[in-house]
Amino acid sequence: MSNDTNNSNMPVQEFEYKAEMKQLLDLIVHSLYTHPEIYLRELISNASDALSKVRFNALTDQDILDKEAELAVKISIDAEEMTFAIQDSGVGMTEEELIANLGTVAKSGTLSFMQALKEQQQQLDGNLIGQFGVGFYSVFMVTEEVTVETRSARPDSQGYRWRSGGQGTYTIEKIDKIDRGTTISFKLKEEYKEFAEEYRVEQIIKKYSNFVDFPIYLADKQVNSIMALWQRSKSELKAEEVNEFYKFIANDYSDPLDYLPVSVEGMVTFKALLFLPQEAPPDMLYRQGELENHGPQLYVKKVLIQNECRDLLPEYLRFIAGVVDTEDLSLNVSREVVQSSPVMAKIRQILTGKILGWFETLAKEQPEKFKTFYKAFGPIIKIGLNTDFTNREKLIDLLRFESTKTAEGEYVTLKEYSDRMGADQKEIYYHSGTSRSQLLAHPNLEYFQNMGIEVLLLSDPVDVFVIPSIHEYDKKPLKSIEKPDIDFSKQQPAREGAEPLPENLLSSVLQLFRETLGEDIEDVIESHRLVNSPVTLVSGKDGLDSQMEKMMKMMQANLNMPAAKRILEVNTSHPIIRNLSGMMIADAGNPLIKTVIKQLYEGALFLEGGLDSTTAFLSRMNELIEAATLSR
Ligand code: ADP
Repeated sequence: MSNDTNNSNMPVQEFEYKAEMKQLLDLIVHSLYTHPEIYLRELISNASDALSKVRFNALTDQDILDKEAELAVKISIDAEEMTFAIQDSGVGMTEEELIANLGTVAKSGTLSFMQALKEQQQQLDGNLIGQFGVGFYSVFMVTEEVTVETRSARPDSQGYRWRSGGQGTYTIEKIDKIDRGTTISFKLKEEYKEFAEEYRVEQIIKKYSNFVDFPIYLADKQVNSIMALWQRSKSELKAEEVNEFYKFIANDYSDPLDYLPVSVEGMVTFKALLFLPQEAPPDMLYRQGELENHGPQLYVKKVLIQNECRDLLPEYLRFIAGVVDTEDLSLNVSREVVQSSPVMAKIRQILTGKILGWFETLAKEQPEKFKTFYKAFGPIIKIGLNTDFTNREKLIDLLRFESTKTAEGEYVTLKEYSDRMGADQKEIYYHSGTSRSQLLAHPNLEYFQNMGIEVLLLSDPVDVFVIPSIHEYDKKPLKSIEKPDIDFSKQQPAREGAEPLPENLLSSVLQLFRETLGEDIEDVIESHRLVNSPVTLVSGKDGLDSQMEKMMKMMQANLNMPAAKRILEVNTSHPIIRNLSGMMIADAGNPLIKTVIKQLYEGALFLEGGLDSTTAFLSRMNELIEAATLSR
């Protein structure tokens, strides 16, 4: 190596890397990389650290070289020459520091990195490098020789040049360097010449280092447009800026619905800026694993560690976008460590609480916003009920339902429902089905409508899986109105002059129903819940809610799950039933009687969307129409 630029008396000194350092370099140089671009993140991160240090030193130390120098990172590239240089005005390094920092493997993380590498054999994932913080040495992925010129910020410092081909030795020589800080330069390998292209470098900076706390200049233009917004206090945040930031990190075209700055100090220290998107990604709920790949970004000391970090939030909250930045993890933390770290568990716990509190506040203070949020993410939130038992109560209070007493698209909470229930009502009633209009048309609602009892209308497919599991709210049991064991003793007489059939006639009508329908149903009983309809279906003694059953069937379509049998309830004061009884007395063998019974049963099935084939239903209907037109 020449020493013509060596202006002092000190010759160029050659040093040998320590054994494990050689191993490390050997691995880096001879492996395949999936993300070689990561070298840039590492260099910027080092520069940013050096700048942070000098900023800190300047707070206490008057004697600092170039005290007024701008704290910045400058990148210069030459596409023709395929050269790359990154310069910072940070703390720089003394000769001893150069040897200590760039000549030895100082960190235990590096050793585990090497271990992981050996296990992975051929493929060296650039992300791995980043995570293990092999940092500086990752430049040997893209170049054959690196030059580091540095001068410490100490006032009596000197400049040094460090050079290495990553082959086992490095050299250090004294140089004239006027300004404080470090410049790292090299010529790119032919296959990585893209890293001397302006657009490419800009793209990488934006991807990994956009929020580094110091300006990054590329060809005199500042590339990192946005500063670390999450480090600011709420009052310092401008909505416009925050929205831009959201769109950038979430890849969304719309502004967020709302945002939440978080600042926590104590057991763990972190800052976060979280966003509620306006809309859920399409099919978010139903595409398996989709939620797994969401989550806020994890920064450690303003350096991006993980995009979509799934360990920051429980699965049911991973639609929340944003940034979480903590001081409590080390920069070179690995994915595995992140996963199992108690720091992460604590952050997740605190964030979950903050987020649920945020929703609660939105509901109270900005009900319209909350409604938009709930429409989009309600189904996902409900998943939390079955997974996050610590926060179950809070989640239950976030639930919203349409009911027989709300207008379409308006909601009631369980608390509101419970507060406005009549004094003698003991249970909270719900009715599940596919749509509000279908639910409202159902005969099972008649009793409740007649008595002015509010019924929650559940039409979100997720409801049947989570709502029954609530069991009770405010000590009041939640109950499907399909259940056979509801107290209907207060039923008002349905219509003027309508008398129920006398006991002896009633039992023979019920018996005939049973004979006609046979195995299709569990039982036929007298109904006390019906007002205007002749019959209705309710759950069997141990049966599932019909909607639940339908969903299960849909999900396991090919398993041919046998349908649980249901109970047919008959409204004995309904004219059809009374007429039927009359027909039986007149001529028990009249074939129309059985047709009517089957038709009533299938009509009830049809209403719930449970009629598999309409052919027989229609031909029976024609038979009945024929009879009706004949008698005119
Ligand atoms: P890490 O940054 O994770 O500590 P690196 O291998 O990237 O590991 O860097 C090793 C050390 O070299 C750093 O800890 C730092 O002390 C020093 N260093 C690297 N780059 C710079 C720089 N631009 N300015 C000052 N010191 C640096």
